[in-house]
Amino acid sequence: MQSNHKRIYLSPPHMGGYEMGYIKEAFETNWIAPLGPQVDAFEKEVAVYTGAKSALALSSGTAAIHLALRLLGVEPGDIVFCSSLTFIASVNPVLYLGAQPVFIDSEPESWNMSPVALEKAFMWANSSGRMPKAVIIVDLYGQSADYEPLLNLCNEYRVPVVEDAAEALGASYRGKVCGTLGRLGVFSFNGNKIVTTSGGGMLVSDDEEALKKALFWATQAREPAPWYQHAEMGYNYRMSNIVAAIGRGQLQVLDERVDARRTVFERYEKTLGDIPGVDFMSEASYGRCNRWLTVMTLNPEICTVKPMQIIDALAAENIESRPVWKPMHLQPLFAGCQYFPHEEGKSIADRFFTTGVCLPSGSSMTAEEQQRVIDVVLSTLSG
Ligand SMILES: *Cc1c(COP(=O)(O)O)cnc(C)c1O
Repeated sequence: MQSNHKRIYLSPPHMGGYEMGYIKEAFETNWIAPLGPQVDAFEKEVAVYTGAKSALALSSGTAAIHLALRLLGVEPGDIVFCSSLTFIASVNPVLYLGAQPVFIDSEPESWNMSPVALEKAFMWANSSGRMPKAVIIVDLYGQSADYEPLLNLCNEYRVPVVEDAAEALGASYRGKVCGTLGRLGVFSFNGNKIVTTSGGGMLVSDDEEALKKALFWATQAREPAPWYQHAEMGYNYRMSNIVAAIGRGQLQVLDERVDARRTVFERYEKTLGDIPGVDFMSEASYGRCNRWLTVMTLNPEICTVKPMQIIDALAAENIESRPVWKPMHLQPLFAGCQYFPHEEGKSIADRFFTTGVCLPSGSSMTAEEQQRVIDVVLSTLSG
């Protein structure tokens, strides 16, 4: 039986009130195109916010990862290292370029790429004479990976890093904004992210020349000539001026959105955190999470209730929740791909997948709505 309550979504869009003003500007000036003053302004504002020298607005975060990998010279037959515990969009661009992903496990504290597993992967690559062209490091659920040891390894082996900060806009690592820790950084403004433009992405970097090249590819690789002249393959990956208008309004309220999501996390932790066997992704001491999603884990040695029982019980009350991302090395699409676990025979990512539940974490969720979620979780846990 479906409940009569209003549906609570996992992470719905939350407009800030400034968006319509910018959209109106776009209409009044007739910039209804995949370029225009809103796009230029949104790029500048994201560059200022992140401290990156340059930003390129694109049609999606996936497009940004695709262009980042192409900038790093990824070609058919190459290998690329990538966090295994992530959304498929982190890795699909590796396939677009005909390259092969090699997956790296998480470490237990931050849930992000394990330096121990990365080192094993580099040793394997080095001894087999096939170094990766790039390492894609994901900042999962709005928590920064531990970049100091990861970058030390990547620098030692001279392999550039793409930071997939699609979920981590507004988070930080040792005072630096997530998205700026690798050679190239990626954000997403998909409908479920902490700020949204309905769909869209951004590539950021201090390498302004690289982003100029990416802009060229993103606009069909049109050569400077009076006619349509093309010497390279390009894409239609540019963000529209209307979409950028939404983004400008959303960026203005980003800090409030982070605060709201952190408050959501704190309420969950306070009401559920003392239950035996229940844990939450804890905030690493080196940074600040944006708490895009609150993720709860159920230790099967202590707690007999399974994550799917929580998800089903919430669904019966018209509440959306999700399992943790299914790791890439377990996906049929990547059967046969190399995987380096944190410990031999013990995959941390597998454990998070089988024990985790993503709880509704929207910044517009009221305390009363969240109490509905908490009540269902409490009653399911107590059998
Ligand atoms: C959402 C997301 C992306 C992709 O962004 P889109 O804008 O949806 O293409 C990439 N990586 C991660 C980790 C994501 O969560």
